[in-house]
Amino acid sequence: MMIDLRSDTVTQPTAAMRAVMAAAVVGDDVFGDDPSVIALQHRVAELTGKEAALIASSGTQTNLLAILSHCQRGEEYLVGQEYHTYRYEAGGAAVLGGIVPQPFEVESDGTLDLNLVDRRVKPDDPHFPITRLLTLENTHTGKVIPQSYMLAARRLCDRHGLNLHLDGARLFNASVATQTSIADLCAPFDSVSICFSKGLGAPIGSVLVGSANFIQRAKRWRKMLGGGMRQAGIMAAAMSYALDHHVARLAEDHVNAQRLAEGLSDIEGLYVEPAQTNMVYVNFASPEHAQRVSQQLMQQGILTATSQRMRLVTHLDIDAAAIERVISAFSTIC
Ligand SMILES: *Cc1c(COP(=O)(O)O)cnc(C)c1O
Repeated sequence: MMIDLRSDTVTQPTAAMRAVMAAAVVGDDVFGDDPSVIALQHRVAELTGKEAALIASSGTQTNLLAILSHCQRGEEYLVGQEYHTYRYEAGGAAVLGGIVPQPFEVESDGTLDLNLVDRRVKPDDPHFPITRLLTLENTHTGKVIPQSYMLAARRLCDRHGLNLHLDGARLFNASVATQTSIADLCAPFDSVSICFSKGLGAPIGSVLVGSANFIQRAKRWRKMLGGGMRQAGIMAAAMSYALDHHVARLAEDHVNAQRLAEGLSDIEGLYVEPAQTNMVYVNFASPEHAQRVSQQLMQQGILTATSQRMRLVTHLDIDAAAIERVISAFSTIC
C-alpha cells in the first residue's frame, strides 16, 4: 500500500460512495432537470447561507466563473500573489475575460495587508482599470484565516463598493478546525467556491454560491466554457455523500497532521512548520537534500513532493498507522 502525501486530491472514492453514485437518480442538468444536482445545489446554498448554488467540474472553474460574473472586461480584481485565483489558474480571468489582476504579496499568516489593498483601489479615472473585486482564500497553505480579518476585508469592500469572493477550496477544513459553521465563514462574502474533491474525498466537483442573480450569470459562463454537464447527478451524489460522511472526520486529518509535524520536528536537519489543518511543511537545507529524501521515501512506498519546502498533506486514505510509518521512514533516512 502506497502512502500518498502529495495532496488531499489523491483520495479514492470509497465503496460506499461508489454505491451511492451508481444508484443516483439523474436527469439532464443542462435542461435543469437532474434531481440529484438540484438537491445538492439547494443543500449547499442552505449550508452556506446564500440564495443559490451551481456545481462545476473543478475549483478552477468555479473561481473563474466567479471572477467572470463579478467583473467586466477592463475591470480588475485584487488578489494574493500566491493565491490559487492568481497563480494556479493559468491566467484564465485575463485570457477569457479581459480582467486585470492586481496581485499583492501574501503575509506569513496567509492574509493580504489591508492597508496596502486599500491604497491600491483605483480612483475613477480613465487611466486606470476599474477596481471591482477582492479575492481571498481560506484555508491558504493549510492556514486558517481569522474571521475578524474577513470582516475587516468586508468593511474595506463596502467602503469602496467592491465585491468580495472567497476561494474556499478547503473551507470545511477551516470550519472543522475552528468549530465555526460554514454559513458564518461565508457570511462576509458575495460569493464562495468550495471543492469537494480535496479533503471531502469526492472524485470530482466544486460548488459556487452567491445571490440568485450572480449564479444566473455564472451559469451562462459555465455553458460558454463547455462546463454544462448532462447526467451530473452521478457526481452530485458523491458530493452529497461527502457532506454526510466526510466532514466531521476532517478532525482526524488535522490530528494526523499535528502528530506528523511533531514526529518530524524531532529529526535533526529538518525545520518543520506547525500544522493548523491538514498540511505540514518541512524545510530542508537544500533542494538536493529534499529530492534525495523524497526518492528514498518512494522506495519505501511513501509519495511526497520533492521541493525544498516540502508539503505533506493528510487525508481520507491516511490513517494514524500510516503517519507512524512515515515518521519512522523519515527518521531512518534523515
Ligand atoms: C485545489 C484548489 C483549487 C481548485 O483546484 P481544482 O483542482 O481546479 O479543483 C482552488 N483553490 C485552492 C486554494 C486549491 O487548493
